[in-house]
Amino acid sequence: MKAVVWHDVGDIRLDEVDDPRVQEPTDAVIRITRSAICGTDLHMERGTMPDMVEGTVLGHEAVGVVEEVGSAVRGFTPGDRVVVTSTIGCGTCSYCRAGYFAQCDTANPNGPAAGTCFFGGPRPTGPINGLQAEFARIPHAMTTLVRVPDGVSDDQAILLSDIFPTAWFGARLAEVGSGDTVLVLGAGVVGQFAIASAKRQGAGRVIVVDGIASRLDKARAQNAETVNFNEEDPVEIVRELTGGIGPDRVIEAVGVDAEQPGERTSEQWKPGDAPRLALDWAVELAAKAGSIGIIGVYPPGFDDFPIGQAMNKNLTLRMGNCNHRRYLPRLLNMVLTGSMDPTAFITRHEKPTSAIDAYRSFDLREDGWLKTVLDVA
Ligand SMILES: [Zn+2]
Repeated sequence: MKAVVWHDVGDIRLDEVDDPRVQEPTDAVIRITRSAICGTDLHMERGTMPDMVEGTVLGHEAVGVVEEVGSAVRGFTPGDRVVVTSTIGCGTCSYCRAGYFAQCDTANPNGPAAGTCFFGGPRPTGPINGLQAEFARIPHAMTTLVRVPDGVSDDQAILLSDIFPTAWFGARLAEVGSGDTVLVLGAGVVGQFAIASAKRQGAGRVIVVDGIASRLDKARAQNAETVNFNEEDPVEIVRELTGGIGPDRVIEAVGVDAEQPGERTSEQWKPGDAPRLALDWAVELAAKAGSIGIIGVYPPGFDDFPIGQAMNKNLTLRMGNCNHRRYLPRLLNMVLTGSMDPTAFITRHEKPTSAIDAYRSFDLREDGWLKTVLDVA
């Protein structure tokens, strides 16, 4: 089959690789119909997320059709349409049963202390071959796959694989509640869904900061109040918009290296040499006793955080990798009932044969590359 394969930092290729097969009784194999390129994939491509293993298939978002199930998989039949959760949980351990699927004790081959297991990630996450491919092996299929109802299209379902659950989780982490003034940092596709999630979790106002006009246009279409950091000082403007108090809740949907595409790797990065991080804005801007939910990606080893300022403002900080399985079924239902249409945020459809060029355009933040879906079949 064809798959997008990681060879080295800056070297990803569309390769011919072996078809995956069922290896464990709890596995399934799916034929992929839609995949997508995520901002997280750029971290592997650039090297900001270190320790990738050569030959790993990239990608952690997919919709497909079940081809084959292992003997222990009782809920799926070949031919079922499914969406894949980006993070993998067994569904049985105490963490999964408490809803912390991204901290499953069983799924990660590196052991219970290794943390989140996800598709197409670096060595400490598995590695588990990813989903930018024609077929994929799905470990723990009973929790990692969710059946897609007939009323939901592949294009709607693909954004439920990672993006919408992550944004929803971000709003939950930030403790968004009734009437809150919410600041969303970053108007990429996760930021867009964070705006939608905050509003559906009760936000009274949503302010969004980004530096790309077309993204801010999309945010304004959701009735968010927009601030362009390339044209004005976001700290000053957000303070002004909130009567000098700051937002009650902040969702950080940017992460470590969003400002310097292709220029910095984890080896080169040193505290103090970064441009201003969105995280610094989050701490500086949050109202006293406010709360921050961090869903932007920070690699292990990143340790530059203004803890003193956060402490002295009595801030609440929550963060982590999304427990996709916890939210996906109910978000799927929101799409089915028409209260949310994710396809409004897909700006590109590409053939898998264009995947490598698509990575480049996305990395350069070319206008209109908000979210690229790969039409595999
Ligand atoms: Zn588990």
